[in-house]
Amino acid sequence: MRSLIERLHREHTLSPDELRTLLVGCDAEHLALINQKAREVAYSHFGNRIFIRGLIEIGNCCRNDCFYCGIRRSNRNVERYRLDKETILSCCAQGYELGFRTIVLQGGEDNYMTDERVVDLVSSIRKAYPDIAITLSLGEKSTEAYQAFYQAGANRYLLRHETHNEAHYQSLHPESMSLQNRLRCLYDLKKIGYQTGTGIMVGSPGQTIEHLVEDILFIETLQPEMIGIGPFLPHHDTPFASEPSGKMEQTLLLLSIFRLMHPKALIPSTTALATLAPDGRERGILAGANVVMPNLSPVWQRSKYALYDNKASMGAEAAEGLRLLEEKLDAIGYVIDKSRGDYEN
Ligand code: SAM
Repeated sequence: MRSLIERLHREHTLSPDELRTLLVGCDAEHLALINQKAREVAYSHFGNRIFIRGLIEIGNCCRNDCFYCGIRRSNRNVERYRLDKETILSCCAQGYELGFRTIVLQGGEDNYMTDERVVDLVSSIRKAYPDIAITLSLGEKSTEAYQAFYQAGANRYLLRHETHNEAHYQSLHPESMSLQNRLRCLYDLKKIGYQTGTGIMVGSPGQTIEHLVEDILFIETLQPEMIGIGPFLPHHDTPFASEPSGKMEQTLLLLSIFRLMHPKALIPSTTALATLAPDGRERGILAGANVVMPNLSPVWQRSKYALYDNKASMGAEAAEGLRLLEEKLDAIGYVIDKSRGDYEN
């Protein structure tokens, strides 16, 4: 196990069999070792600096019906909302004032948010804040739409593939969605020139070690600039309400594997990890993550963007809680970096 970890550190790749061995046999002692190696790699590229992104959850209306997601179309118990352009711009202003130089617009796949409206929104933000990075996370769109958003000034796009296994994908999503289209989107985004993020939920229902190996190999092929991984967490109003959460240890192991395979990638310590355990955010950073995404959405709306139960959105997860985040990072020897934090080749 030790020699596998050392080789992954040195060569940034392992065979499928070796990845399987690592995923199955990594005990607490070796988890500590791989986390340490991953941390050293992140340190060698980013020092003790953690990039921050201001997350604006622009709406929870969604035409999709993903079985795991709390804002899925069939959930009648969600109070739906949609932020208007002025509100989004004032969130950006607040973020800019606080020092954020990346904003992330995330939301459900909302029919009201036509491509034209997204272009108009992105252009307005770009005009008001020429120096910030604009990241979108609005789901699957046409090639033309991605192109238009890019031209309007968007720089990055987050779209987790969720799982690279066809049968597993279909067990997590309704028939109206396909892995093929998800992957088409990701290849489009890369081709257009976005800094592209993909990733998975760790411990999603039905996920096996084989699936994880497939995910790691897919990410190795795609070479995304950003990798988002967090534990699956159940939401009480979904078909997966009584499924168990993803495990902290497995999430930290995967995070470290991705850091060792993709030394310069931008890897967030996710809100889901911070929700799973009070020290989740810090543990993610100590396993090789180098990004956190505090919530910049209006406080009145945050509880409505409930992808899973007990989702953290206040305190150090909130943009207005930057001081608290600073303290928590300081306690583990890290500082906030407020620059754009682009991917660097
Ligand atoms: N609609 C966009 C999309 O599909 O990428 C962005 C919003 S979507 C809610 C953002 C991410 O939330 C998904 O990619 C998924 O990985 C994550 N998510 C949804 N439900 C979750 C759950 N129950 N546990 C953990 N993560 C979840």
